[in-house]
Amino acid sequence: MERSVHFRAIVVRHTNYEEADRFITFLTPFQGRVSALAKGVRKLSSRKAGHLQPFTYVDVQLSKGRGASWLVTQVSTIEAYPDILASLDKTVRTSCVLELADRFSLEGVENVQLFQLTLDTLRRIAVFEDIFPVQRYFDLQLLNVTGYRPQLFECVRCHKKIQPEDQYLHYGMGGVLCPDCGEITAGARKISMNTLKYFRYYQTRPFAQAAAAGWPQGIRMESENLLTGYQSYLLERKTNSQQFLEKI
Ligand SMILES: [Zn+2]
Repeated sequence: MERSVHFRAIVVRHTNYEEADRFITFLTPFQGRVSALAKGVRKLSSRKAGHLQPFTYVDVQLSKGRGASWLVTQVSTIEAYPDILASLDKTVRTSCVLELADRFSLEGVENVQLFQLTLDTLRRIAVFEDIFPVQRYFDLQLLNVTGYRPQLFECVRCHKKIQPEDQYLHYGMGGVLCPDCGEITAGARKISMNTLKYFRYYQTRPFAQAAAAGWPQGIRMESENLLTGYQSYLLERKTNSQQFLEKI
């Protein structure tokens, strides 16, 4: 087993531990989610503290002491995002993005795409004025890179091609239902034609193209509610299956 590792990472979360320490959760490209103990970082004299704030992109070295957990031995900032911290709205939205990246990531499992998407999203939140499209791009691409891409082009029940009209979305079935199937399927939620159009566009286009299309004000609430619901459904299922695996 390796006694020390060195990687680039995003600080996604920290939790106070004992009097002066903190557990830090990192999102990395090749080792997925990694947690490590940072000793003494809550002391005023700590030189590591500033680098280990959430929303920081860092270069970090960890080593294994006698215990089982990783210890942070060296850390330096690659990029910080003062423009995010200067805005309450941006801070709240970045917290949501990092929480999702944290919860959808797997401990010790490589996911370069998830890491890159999260890093790109931090950079975009820092510079964009309208963050709504940035966040929705993250939401839809997050499903792509974690293996939960919803089917948005054909009905998940009868497999007919979706026509340009209002449809239904089904979290458990993993995509859209045509109006005929949606009306007779329990748990189907209405999705307007326009929202579905934006979901498809953001699911399949590079960011620059998606952002250029913006996101109409009239469908923002519907879009956010549907995507948040979808994510909550998946996370609950993921938690339940982990608990199930832990029990057997
Ligand atoms: Zn159908």
